[in-house]
Amino acid sequence: MIDRRLMLTSAAGLFGFIALRWFGIAPAHAEKFEIEKTDAEWRAQLTSAQYEILRREGTEHPYTSPLLKEHRKGIFACAGCDLPLFSSDTKFESGTGWPSFFVPLDNAVGERVDRTLGMARTEVHCRRCGGHLGHVFDDGPKPTGLRYCMDGFALQFHPANPQPS
Ligand SMILES: [Zn+2]
Repeated sequence: MIDRRLMLTSAAGLFGFIALRWFGIAPAHAEKFEIEKTDAEWRAQLTSAQYEILRREGTEHPYTSPLLKEHRKGIFACAGCDLPLFSSDTKFESGTGWPSFFVPLDNAVGERVDRTLGMARTEVHCRRCGGHLGHVFDDGPKPTGLRYCMDGFALQFHPANPQPS
């Protein structure tokens, strides 16, 4: 009797597992990334603001990122792994208080549906380290009509022509 119950339980468990795989409903953060570190390693490497956003999917307060007013030519890279993510050529003033871009660089970001806060939004993360960057919305300017609403503290700027110091 016990054996039978055990068998049923594990069969149900197995079925549940297969169903999850089948329907692609993987638990959040199950995705594998090229750069993976332990939580302690990320905490040691990042500032608390960077950690909260990149690793805990936090959101910075609007108008707090120094990158909002960054208008030089250059590249905005991941603050977690330095992968180039956005070009200054695609940055625009969205008026939202967060650095905004109309398209990412090729092979730079990954996206997934985020159903927190009772709505379906598209979450955007670094494709190399999985660090959370922000969300993408479809009310952006031409040519893409997209608005990549990024947390400035998840990014670091590399000017194209660094001033000699
Ligand atoms: Zn990264």
